[in-house]
Amino acid sequence: MTETPRTALTIAGSDSGGGAGIQADLRTFFACGVHGLVSLTAVTVQNSLGVQGFTEIPAEVVAAQIKAVAQDMGVNAAKTGMLATAEIIRTVAKTLDEVHIGRDTGVPFVVDPVAASMTGHALLREEALEAIRTELFPRATLITPNLDEVKLLTGVSVSDKESQYAAARALLEFGSTWVLVKGGHMYDDPHCVDLLSDGREFVELSGHRYDTENTHGGGDTMASAITAALAKGATVPDAVAQGKEFIERCVAEGYALGAGVGPVSPFWRLKES
Ligand code: PLP
Repeated sequence: MTETPRTALTIAGSDSGGGAGIQADLRTFFACGVHGLVSLTAVTVQNSLGVQGFTEIPAEVVAAQIKAVAQDMGVNAAKTGMLATAEIIRTVAKTLDEVHIGRDTGVPFVVDPVAASMTGHALLREEALEAIRTELFPRATLITPNLDEVKLLTGVSVSDKESQYAAARALLEFGSTWVLVKGGHMYDDPHCVDLLSDGREFVELSGHRYDTENTHGGGDTMASAITAALAKGATVPDAVAQGKEFIERCVAEGYALGAGVGPVSPFWRLKES
C-alpha cells in the first residue's frame, strides 16, 4: 500500500491567475511531497496586472473548513496567507486553539502576514493589521514578513543589516517563536539576505538575486515550502534553509504570463524527480 504523506494546511485566499494564494501553496506542497489541505478565506479577482477586488468567505465557514480537515485527516503543519478581515483573523486564532495547532502544541504554525500584493493592491482590510499582531503572532512558530510588511507592522524601514536586525527584534516582541525578515525587497543589495532569529540565534541566509520580473507568488511559495518541511519534521532553521533553496530555484524559473508580472514556478522540482 502507498504510504500516506504528511499533511500541511493552508488558510489563505484564491488567486484567479493561479500564481499566488492557495494555488501557489498547493502547488508547492505537492512539489515538496506533502498532502495539501485548504481553508479558503477569500476569493480574489486578479490577473498578471493586479488585483481587481476580493470577496471574503464568512468567518464561520473558514473555521468549519479548518475543523473538518483537522479532526478527520490531521494536520502536521499549517500556514496562513491572505486573511482579509479582522473577524477572519480572530476566528482562525480561536479555531487553531480548538484543534491544537500553534507554537506550543507540537504542530508548527507559520504566519505569512500578507497585507498587499506586489502590485500595491490591499489584501487586508485596514483594521486587521492589529489583529495579526495580537491574535496570530503570539500563536506562531514562525512569521515571514517581507520589508513592506515589516514597515506596516513595526514602523521600522529596513534598508541595511542594522535595521534588519532591529526589525527582527521588534517583531519578536509580538510573541512568535521565530521571525524571518525577508530581505528580497532590498533592491540595492546584490544578494537576497534573509534574517532568521528566535532572539538568541541570528542566522543570515544569503541567496542569489535574479534579474527577473516574474516573481508573483514568491512569498506564498517560500512560506509553503517552509511549512511543508516543518510538516515533514524539520527544525525551523532547517525548514527555512530548505524553503530558501526552493524559492531561489522557483524565482530562477519564473515565467512571463499575461501583460504584467508572471509567476514563480516549482516545475523544476517535477522535472528533477
Ligand atoms: N493574491 C493572493 C490570494 C495572495 O495570497 C497574495 C500573496 O500572498 C497575492 C495575491 C500577492 O502576491 P504577490 O505579492 O506575490 O504578487
